[in-house]
Amino acid sequence: MPGGAGGRPRPAPRAGQYHAAVAPGTELADLAREAAGCTRCPLAAHRTQVVFGVGDPEADLMFVGEAPGRDEDLRGEPFVGRSGKLLDRLLHEELGVGRDRCYIANVVKCRPPDNRDPKADEIAACRPYLEAQLRLIRPKVVVTLGNFSTRLLLGTDLGITKVRGRSYPVGDWHLVPTYHPAAALRSGGVVVAEMRADLIRAKQLVGWG
Ligand code: URA
Repeated sequence: MPGGAGGRPRPAPRAGQYHAAVAPGTELADLAREAAGCTRCPLAAHRTQVVFGVGDPEADLMFVGEAPGRDEDLRGEPFVGRSGKLLDRLLHEELGVGRDRCYIANVVKCRPPDNRDPKADEIAACRPYLEAQLRLIRPKVVVTLGNFSTRLLLGTDLGITKVRGRSYPVGDWHLVPTYHPAAALRSGGVVVAEMRADLIRAKQLVGWG
């Protein structure tokens, strides 16, 4: 049975059990409600809805991407488009789990117009939500997907190709940087293989194999 961070006992999740925005009755749900009405940055004016995060609120393994795209903005869930399909496939093939065993969030919770990169002030405005998610979920391992989440959570200016290939202790969790799935879709072969290796590293750190 997977234990929560800090050794909290908890039952093994059933498949699909947490496949909603957040579990009701938790502090995470309160945070999601607050975020749903957020106007801290100009992205609020462009969104269909806030894409707060999805998955097990006590997940040992968390993924952090960049920002919602069009599909995510419409569905209200991170990584449901082509990148998400690849992420789901790699999760299944390398870790043997579905997304319901993890928690998935983004650096910014609202879609930047035309899928442009998030700006520094937008990242800064949204940062407290991500930090609160990390505090409440208490994952053992955080896999950062691409440059934006890696730079923010690792506190570096270096690019993903320079920092991936190892893990980093950050507070009481481990950070495993890897490529954004969109980069893997663009580049194929070697990048996908390196992503697989990073996911295996994360799996071992979580204690899943
Ligand atoms: N890309 C991201 O970084 N996050 C998503 O949720 C979807 C695509």
